[in-house]
Formats: sequence, C-alpha cells, structure tokens
Amino acid sequence: MTRRRRIYEGKAKVLFEGPEPGTLVQYFKDDATAFNNQKKGVITGKGVLNNRISEYLMSRLSEIGVPTHFMRRLNMREQLVREVEIIPIEVVVRNVAAGSLSRRFGIPEGTPLPRSIIEYYYKSDELNDPMVSEEHITAFGWAGPQDLDDMVALSLRVNDYLSGLFLGIGLKLVDFKLEFGRLWENEEMRIVLADEISPDNCRLWDVKTNEKLDKDRFRQDLGRVEEAYQEVARRLGILPEGGPSDVKGPKTIQ
Ligand code: 5GP
Repeated sequence: MTRRRRIYEGKAKVLFEGPEPGTLVQYFKDDATAFNNQKKGVITGKGVLNNRISEYLMSRLSEIGVPTHFMRRLNMREQLVREVEIIPIEVVVRNVAAGSLSRRFGIPEGTPLPRSIIEYYYKSDELNDPMVSEEHITAFGWAGPQDLDDMVALSLRVNDYLSGLFLGIGLKLVDFKLEFGRLWENEEMRIVLADEISPDNCRLWDVKTNEKLDKDRFRQDLGRVEEAYQEVARRLGILPEGGPSDVKGPKTIQ
C-alpha cells in the first residue's frame, strides 16, 4: 500500500487524500470524546459499525434525493467521499427534549416537542461550539441565506425520512447533528450532506423501553456502550458478517 496524505484528523475520523482529484477517504476510528474533549475513551468496534451505519443511512437518503458526499464504502473502516468545503455550522434537529436542550431550558428529558426544533452551532473547539442564530451565520459569512435555506430544507427531509426509518426498527430518533458542505461541479455549487450519520451524532432510544442506544451511554457512563452500537447495526440489518467479533477491522495505513 502506498502512503496516503493525511488531510485532516478529527476526534472520531481521519480524512486522507482520495484516489482521484475531488475525492477523500474517510477513516472511522474507535476513539470517542465528549464534552469538547474533556472525556476521552475508546469504543471497540465503533469505527467499523459507524462506517456501515453511515453508509447505509447516506445511501438511503441519496435514494430519496438528498445529496450527500458519500460515494462508496471501501473496507471495514473506510469510505470514499467527495471532497467538499465544509460549512462551519452544526445543524441540530430535535424531536424530543434531551441533552443540552433539557439542561438549558429545564425541560425533562423525554418530553416530546410540539414541533421539530432546529438549532445551529458554530464549529469551534476553542469556543466550545457556541449556539448561534441565522443572523450570526449570515452576518459573519459562514453561510449565505440561500445556503441556510438549503440546509434547513435538507435537515427537515432527513429528519422526516430517518424518523420513519428508525421507527420501523423500534427506535425513536430523539435528535441528531448534521454537517453540510459545498460541492463544486462545473462552476455550479450545491449544498450536500457531509460528515457521518451514526449513533455518535444521533440520539436513538428504544421505542418501548426508552433505553439509550447511542453515544450518551459513553457520555453518561451507562455501560454496554459497544452493545448499543451493535444493536443499532443489528436492527438496521447491517452487522458485519463475522458478528461483533469481526468489528476490530484493519489497522490504519499511515
Ligand atoms: P446536545 O446539544 O443535546 O448535546 O446534542 C444534540 C444532538 O446533536 C445529539 O444527538 C448529539 O449527539 C449531537 N451533537 C451535538 N454536537 C455534537 C458534536 O460536536 N459531535 C457529535 N458527534 N455530535 C454532536
């Protein structure tokens, strides 16, 4: 294997130069962080499972016309994606009160929201991802009004589709975080879904028991973290063939 150029290393993923111009290889790590890096750990097999889960969800979304950066899965821990210019805004969609919304407004976790709520956060580790308004986003030039319109419309479609998909496998989509990027093709720019969709950035609760099957198990020291990610993959019908013992995957090539 040739050495690949590392473009960017985040908390849970590494981006390498892709085989063709305009492509990147997205490598999924087992590393987990929470509370802006204050809590660190490893969730064994998470990278393999998130690679599969994100592949599955991005593919389904692409089938209903949601543009994404995903091209194809390459192996256990890597997928080929289109290189996009990441918009430095995290879009959070909430259906049920949990996490920072519950803390901020004193709304008990699990309270259904009268309608889906969209929030924006500025991606900045130094500033601890502050919540921002549309005014901040356009005034500071992080995204224009049309970009924002596209991001909101896509986020709501993703929410509608994924809420139904997860409900079908007995999971409540409580909330999730999306990232978007600008994709340039022949002078034309489109906003596409980027990053990943997995239990790292979605809250998923069992419909009957409200058991948490997402990264909150790690954040809140609830135990059985690996099992939660496996359970989501199992319900989606995409657990790696060798079962949970197959999830360590190949070592990264550096
Ligand atoms: P909260 O604001 O309640 O902490 O998070 C809302 C939702 O967005 C949760 O599903 C959470 O997983 C996701 N989320 C928010 N910020 C981040 C982030 O910086 N990284 C990841 N992986 N997920 C995030």
